[in-house]
Parts: sequence; C-alpha cells; structure tokens
Amino acid sequence: MAKVVLKNVYKVYPGNVTAVKDCNLEIEDKEFVVLVGPSGCGKSTTLRMIAGLEEISSGELYIGDKLMNDVAPKDRDIAMVFQNYALYPHMTVYENMAFGLKLRKVPKDVIDKKVREAARILDIEHLLDRKPKALSGGQRQRVALGRAIVREPKVFLMDEPLSNLDAKLRVQMRTEISKLHKRLNTTFIYVTHDQTEAMTMGTKIVVMKDGVIQQIAAPQDIYEHP
Ligand code: ADP
Ligand code: ADP
Repeated sequence: MAKVVLKNVYKVYPGNVTAVKDCNLEIEDKEFVVLVGPSGCGKSTTLRMIAGLEEISSGELYIGDKLMNDVAPKDRDIAMVFQNYALYPHMTVYENMAFGLKLRKVPKDVIDKKVREAARILDIEHLLDRKPKALSGGQRQRVALGRAIVREPKVFLMDEPLSNLDAKLRVQMRTEISKLHKRLNTTFIYVTHDQTEAMTMGTKIVVMKDGVIQQIAAPQDIYEHP
C-alpha cells in the first residue's frame, strides 16, 4: 500500500514563483516513475513535496490512503537519496547507514543485521569502516543508497542521484538501481533531466515543463515535442 497521489498540487515560492502548477499524478505501488524535464521545470520541487521537505501551497498529497500534507518527513515512510549524497563526513560508512535507524531507537542487533545485509546487496561490505572522504564517487553513491535501504521505506525518492558520476559509472549504476528496484519490489520515484536515463530506467515517465505535467506514459509511448 504505497500508492502516491498528488491532487491539484501547486507550489508557489516566496516572490510569487509558481514552481508546480496543478499537478495531478497517481503513482501505483511498486512502479518506477521517472520525472523528467529541463532544469527548472519543477521536478525537484515535486519530489521534495512528496518527501515533506517542501510545503505544499495548495492541493493534496496522499501516500497509501493517508493525507500527508501536514505529516513530518520522518513519519512518511519514505527515504530520499540526494544528488550530493548528503553523507555525514565525520561518521564511518557503517555509522552513516545506521544513523536513521538509531534515531528511531531500533535495537542494535537489528541495526547491525540490516546494515550488513544492505552492504552485501550494494557490495560495500569492505568499506564499512571508512569515512566518506576515503570513498570514490560511485562508492559514496552506494552508501547513500544503503542508508535508504536499511530503513525499508515504502517509497524511495531519488533526486538526480547519478549526476555526479562519470559517464561510464552512470550507465553501470542505472542498471544497478533498476535491479535494486526489482529486488526491493517497492515504489521508486526518480528525478532526472537526462532523457536516456529516464527512458532506460522508468516503467512510467512523467514529462514536466514550466511547472506543468505534459505527458504521463510508458517509455515506449513517450513522444518528443518538436
Ligand atoms: P528542477 O528540479 O526541474 O530543476 P526545481 O523544482 O528545482 O526544478 O525548480 C522549479 C522552479 O522553482 C525554478 O524556477 C526554480 O528557480 C524555483 N525554485 C526552486 N526552489 C526555490 C526556492 N527555494 N525559492 C524560490 N524559487 C525556487
Ligand atoms: P531522516 O531524514 O529520516 O530523519 P536521516 O538519517 O536521513 O533520517 O537524517 C537524520 C537527521 O539528520 C534528520 O533530522 C535530517 O534532517 C538530518 N540530516 C540529513 N542529512 C544531513 C546532513 N548531510 N547533514 C546534517 N544533517 C543532516
């Protein structure tokens, strides 16, 4: 039950910038939805409203059957992976991955099991004692994914997670994130400005322009505007 629904959602930033206009979107449980469009079209704002990092100006957001407009980020059953990974520099990989669970008072042995399992899935078991500065870009990206996985959220939100990687690694991580989606069997909402990335990863593509959704379709049914 992790359907995500936006109904008539608007976001108006101070200074009267309408970043998202009348957004209507239904994301089914277990879908891999990609929000795509040029820089500034409102993708990130949409994702951040789903995460609760940005207040909704008007309209309604549901996750499952629950109205989420006023629910704190930590109570939304989501996890978000950021472009800059947002790892804590003073903590080891293990501590970075464990932190969200520790905050939630999960018992230590349970945390340990989850961290090691996620590290195994992501092939970073050998890095658990390192600090982020001693990792490559690709490894940091895996740790950021690991930190999300251990929480076992119903919905994964990803904001341009591959844009800081070189081209070769980006292609490799695309495949890995698609595999991860199949393995975790949960809802992914993924933001990118990269058309190819969108088309190869998404089961459903949402094309945005100037704060408005232009198309919602399966990748093979998306048409290009002239
Ligand atoms: P995208 O993710 O597609 O690049 P954003 O959602 O980041 O687009 O931005 C959409 C629009 O909202 C842009 O015009 C941007 O300048 C504006 N915007 C984003 N964040 C803020 C903010 N905190 N204050 C004012 N305007 C913002
Ligand atoms: P959650 O986002 O579910 O609270 P996190 O482990 O991601 O769990 O974050 C824990 C706390 O640390 C939150 O209050 C969050 O706002 C804050 N936080 C997240 N990323 C950073 C960061 N890079 N630097 C400092 N604080 C952060």
